[in-house]
Amino acid sequence: MDVLGFIDPGITVNIVKDGSIVEKKKLQLPNKLTNIVRCKNPRCITSIEQELPQVFFLADPREKIYRCQYCEEKYDGKRQKHHH
Ligand SMILES: [Zn+2]
Repeated sequence: MDVLGFIDPGITVNIVKDGSIVEKKKLQLPNKLTNIVRCKNPRCITSIEQELPQVFFLADPREKIYRCQYCEEKYDGKRQKHHH
């Protein structure tokens, strides 16, 4: 559910009881993302220590901005550019 909420934060879940909707819930952005996105800072400890989990915390729920727990590198959901 956390992953789903992250992919589509606007999703609404209907809680149905005895055939009628008793509650409508909007999925919230998870406060923490573990091993879902990777930190792109080459100097981040997770780039050096490969066995460390990739942990991002929700820094700004309005802007949907996550930051790396280790180096505070911003993750804004945009695709990473690769340099060849
Ligand atoms: Zn980092």
